[in-house]
Amino acid sequence: MSRFFSDKYRELKAYVPGEQPRDQAYIKLNTNENPFPPHPEVLRAAAEEAGKLQLYSDPECREITSVLAENMGVKPENLLMTNGSDEILNFAFMAFCDEKHPAVFPDITYGFYPVFAQVNCLPYLEIPLEKDLSMPVGELRKTDGVLFIANPNAPTGLAVSRETIREMLEEKPERLIVVDEAYVDFGGESCVELIRDHENLLVTQTFSKFRSMAGMRLGYGIACEALIRDLKTIQYSTNPYNVDRVAQAAGAACLRNDGYNRENARTIIANREAARKALAGMGFHCTDSRTNFLFARHERLDGGLLYRRLKERGILIRHFDTERIRDYNRITVGTREQMDRLIRETERILQEEL
Ligand code: PMP
Repeated sequence: MSRFFSDKYRELKAYVPGEQPRDQAYIKLNTNENPFPPHPEVLRAAAEEAGKLQLYSDPECREITSVLAENMGVKPENLLMTNGSDEILNFAFMAFCDEKHPAVFPDITYGFYPVFAQVNCLPYLEIPLEKDLSMPVGELRKTDGVLFIANPNAPTGLAVSRETIREMLEEKPERLIVVDEAYVDFGGESCVELIRDHENLLVTQTFSKFRSMAGMRLGYGIACEALIRDLKTIQYSTNPYNVDRVAQAAGAACLRNDGYNRENARTIIANREAARKALAGMGFHCTDSRTNFLFARHERLDGGLLYRRLKERGILIRHFDTERIRDYNRITVGTREQMDRLIRETERILQEEL
């Protein structure tokens, strides 16, 4: 820390992204990326648009927004495109939280939420997940402030129903709820349709998981027009050209080929269920994940040890060395071949260690 770093950030603990190794070709099951490359049209559109990089991008993201609006059955005014969904989430903290409206979220959830609160010097309240790691709906309902719910949640993979969210929206119309649907396309229930009748709902989604474009940094928010206008004020006050030209063109091409993404998601769900079964046969307990990852704990094998042994064998998974979930590992669902390798190596590790 230099002597110039502002006092307000002395205690700030930055977000720690999953490892992005360069030293060897790992089977990478640690950051919930999609194992399939983007559709060929995405590559073509990106290459073509790259020839115009001397020009600024469209701050209104008109082309991609109109394709997305049509795909989702909403108006372009209900959408705001951002640099990954991390950016729309940060905008939501900036736009809607303050001393009177603290951010509220579960204690085990997307690790960026407390960081967004801290970097914006905002108060926040963490509500413990239930013992079985499910969403503490009853306790969350008792709170006020801006509620952030990752649905499905990460890293647990567990989802709450659209009906539950609807009830929460209706019982406190003055409370804003942000539903982070980064993983919704792998078996969750989306709340997008609720934006029509609920002015206190912001849904965020991403191109990083279902749409195989994590490296492009593309996300968006869906909400009533007034909320989107507020978020745009934040966009224009921080970075009007937040989504680059190549991302806009590639994203539009991706949306025009969403059938390809849906097909891949079906494969990922099938691979998830096959891996869950194989892991259960070896003594693992997996949560009922509705995402592209499994959250797994072994009856007798330490979570950190499994992570280290797999890494030695060229397979990266994610271990969180934090209370309550130390026994677990989060395993991104890859191709069938990658999952077969994971299962084979895990079997060997169990033989050696137990
Ligand atoms: N929400 C959740 C729950 C996530 O796990 C992630 C990915 N790490 C994000 C949002 C942000 O993803 P991105 O910025 O790539 O859209």
